[in-house]
Amino acid sequence: MANDIQAIRGMKDLLPDQSHAWQYVENVFRSVMSSYGYSEIRMPIVEKTELFKRSIGEVTDIVEKEMYTFEDRNGDSLTLRPEGTASCVRACLEHGLLYNQTQRLWYSGPMFRHERPQKGRYRQFHQVGVEAFGMAGPDIDAEMILLSARLWQALGLKSVVLQINSLGTPETRAVYRTQLIEYFTKNSEQLDEDSQRRLNTNPLRILDSKNPAMRELINAAPNFFDTIDEDSMRHFDELKRYLDEAGVAYQVNPRLVRGLDYYTKTVFEWVTDKLGAQGTICAGGRFDGLVAQLGGKATPAVGFALGIERLLALLEEDGQESPVQDVHAYLVLVGEEARHKGLLLAETLRENTPGIRLITHCGEGSMKSQFKRADKSGAQIVLLIGEQEIQDKVVSVKFLREDEPQITMTQEAVIDFLKARVINQSQANILI
Ligand code: ATP
Ligand code: MG
Repeated sequence: MANDIQAIRGMKDLLPDQSHAWQYVENVFRSVMSSYGYSEIRMPIVEKTELFKRSIGEVTDIVEKEMYTFEDRNGDSLTLRPEGTASCVRACLEHGLLYNQTQRLWYSGPMFRHERPQKGRYRQFHQVGVEAFGMAGPDIDAEMILLSARLWQALGLKSVVLQINSLGTPETRAVYRTQLIEYFTKNSEQLDEDSQRRLNTNPLRILDSKNPAMRELINAAPNFFDTIDEDSMRHFDELKRYLDEAGVAYQVNPRLVRGLDYYTKTVFEWVTDKLGAQGTICAGGRFDGLVAQLGGKATPAVGFALGIERLLALLEEDGQESPVQDVHAYLVLVGEEARHKGLLLAETLRENTPGIRLITHCGEGSMKSQFKRADKSGAQIVLLIGEQEIQDKVVSVKFLREDEPQITMTQEAVIDFLKARVINQSQANILI
C-alpha cells in the first residue's frame, strides 16, 4: 500500500540494514577523539537565526539561500542549524567554557541546508565536528589534521588527499579582496551570475565557484601568497613542517577558500575524486575572529567538520565494508512451557555474557516457521527448547552457518558455551 505521507525531499530514513555501518564509524570517531583528549558537547538543533547570520556571514550560500528559517509561536526567528561551529561557540560563551582555559571539543548530529538534493548532497545530513579553542599556534592546526588522518586510517579510507591553504589575517585579506575586485571587474564579462553578485560583497567566494566555465579565469586570478603577511606565512610554513615531520602528504591549493566567512590563516580540506562534484569529505580551518564576533573575548580557534554520508559513500567506493554484527543466537521455543522457560533463559544468558546478541522468538509459530525467522535474523545458532527438551531439562543447539551436528546440553552448559563463543568473536573483532 502506498503511503501518501512521505519523508521530506533531501531527508532520508536510516534503515536497520544501514545503521550498523553508521554505528561502526561513530564508534571509531568516539575512540579516536578520546585518544586525543577531546570531549563531546551536544547542542540544540535549533538556534536563533541571528547566530548564523552573525557567524557564517550574510553573503554566503548558506545564509542567503540554504537555511531552514521559521517563526515560532512567539514570533521569534529560529533556524535549524546548518552547521555546528556557531552553536558550539555560542554554547562555550554561554557556559564560560573559554574563560582562561583551552577546550578540545567534538560533536556530531544532523545539519540542515536547503540545497538541491543529489548524491552526497542532502537537506538533512550529518556531520562530526571537532573544535579547539584557546590555542593560537600551528601545532594545534597540525594536531587537528593528524586527528582527521587517524580517522581515515582507523576506517581504512584510502582515496582522500589533503589540501591546505592560508587565508591570512583579516587585514591582508582586505588587501587581497581589493586585488580580486579589480581583477574580476576587468574580466566581468566572464563572470557567471552568482559571481557577478559576489563581486563587490564577497569576491573571495568567487574562487570557490564550482562552475567549470569559470575555471580558467579563477586560475589566472591574483595569488594570495603574493600578499600574505609575515605572521600568517610563518604559521603556514610551521604547519607544513609539522605535517612533513608526521609524514602526512598534502597539496597547497591557493584557491582553497571556505564556504563560510569566519576563517583566518589555515584552511584545509580532505577531497576525493571518487564522488563526483561532492568531493569534499572533510573541511575546516582556523577561525580566530569568530569568538569575538559572537561577543566573547578574542580567542584563537581551529576546527573541522566531516560529512558522514559522504564518508560512508567513499568507504563503500573503497571497498571497505564495516564489520557486520551478526546475531549470535536465536531462541526457538515450541509450546507454552518452553516460552516461559525460554524468556527466563534469555535473561540469564544476557546477564552472564556481556556483548551477547540474542533474539527470543515471541509469539506462537511452528518449529519450521521459527527456524525460518532464525535464519532471516542472521543468527549463527539456534537454541531450541521444545517438548522433548522440557522433559529432559536440556537445550538443543543447532548450527545455522557451520557444518556441525546438533548438540544437546543443560542450561548451565549453554551459558558457558555461549560465553566462550561471544568472547572469541569479540576478540577477533575488537572494534565492534
Ligand atoms: P560543499 O562545497 O560540498 O557544499 P561546504 O563547503 O558547504 O561543502 P562545509 O560547510 O564545510 O561544506 O561542511 C563540511 C562537510 O559537510 C562537507 O565537506 C561535506 O562533507 C558535508 N556537507 C556539507 N553540506 C552537505 C550536504 N548538503 N549534504 C551532505 N553533506 C554535506
Ligand atoms: Mg555547501
